[in-house]
Amino acid sequence: VIVTTEPEKIEDSSSSSKVGTELLCVVRAVLKKIKRRVLVGDKVVVGSIDWVDRRGMIENVFQRSSDILDPPVANVDRLLVLFSVEQPQLESFVLTRFLIEAESTGIPITLALNKAELVDQQVLSDWDTRLRSWGYEPLFCSVDSKMGLDSLASVLRDQTTVIVGPSGVGKSSLINALRNKPNSQVEVDNWFDPIMGSKWFEDQRVGKVSTRSGRGKHTTRNVSLLPLGGGGYLADTPGFSQPSLLKVTKQSLAQYFPEIRKMLGDNEQAKCAFNDCLHVGEPGCIVKGDWERYPLYFQLLDEIRIREEFQLRTF
Ligand code: GDP
Ligand code: ZN
Repeated sequence: VIVTTEPEKIEDSSSSSKVGTELLCVVRAVLKKIKRRVLVGDKVVVGSIDWVDRRGMIENVFQRSSDILDPPVANVDRLLVLFSVEQPQLESFVLTRFLIEAESTGIPITLALNKAELVDQQVLSDWDTRLRSWGYEPLFCSVDSKMGLDSLASVLRDQTTVIVGPSGVGKSSLINALRNKPNSQVEVDNWFDPIMGSKWFEDQRVGKVSTRSGRGKHTTRNVSLLPLGGGGYLADTPGFSQPSLLKVTKQSLAQYFPEIRKMLGDNEQAKCAFNDCLHVGEPGCIVKGDWERYPLYFQLLDEIRIREEFQLRTF
């Protein structure tokens, strides 16, 4: 999304109508040679523009503010971690694994709980209290009853968002609900992918099988950014549905718990006695154990320790 090389042309008022023009682009050979993939959501420099045929060439890719590969979308501003309060039931360890995986991307997180219409107010308010003690401000919604969808839409405004969460919680339903929100300024029926170009281009991408590997040539899933009414984009493909935690190390785990971040950040002077403190009862550790998810922190630490030891032994 993107936008141009030829700023002088764009700024020229006579071509201001070119702002927002969709161009079908090829990627400059040298970028392919250095294996610089162009992803949906990338900000790129386009040259050799033919305004009549609406074609151009991607000459360079700007540095990305985020780099997630599942789904492959560049410059994601927000991860919407979606769970449901029921069907499937909200489970704190599963939710924690997702939150840790999400935190490890460095992208800001919004936590939303769907299917809120299935439980009574007290259940919602109990979860609200609990999740706030974890350091999150959950939004409750229901795609079925439309409850909370407006607040959700306003949180996502002007940002590029990817939804992550386990299967069955309503990710696809929510994507559809947000894409069809009536205040959308986009003609839904004539929807036109602003990033990857036209439907025509989409059709060009499917099907071809690589003879060498025998697998589909495009093993990555198709992903497009849906323009949201009021600005911003939502990836039409949900992200990871099973956190691997492969990028999380024993040392980094603590920083993905807002509770620990708060304890360490609240008091600049106070530091654990050891620089590499894992906060598991070392002498001089300032992380207290009086919070709900402390046992889950231990459990994840164990899981990661076992994985790291296994990796050491194997390689
Ligand atoms: P995904 O696997 O996360 O993409 O979940 P889906 O969008 O496929 O939804 C899974 C099931 O949950 C479907 O049967 C949906 O109709 C249902 N569902 C989605 N949103 C709601 C909701 O707000 N309330 C209820 N009761 N069911 C919902
Ligand atoms: Zn400590």
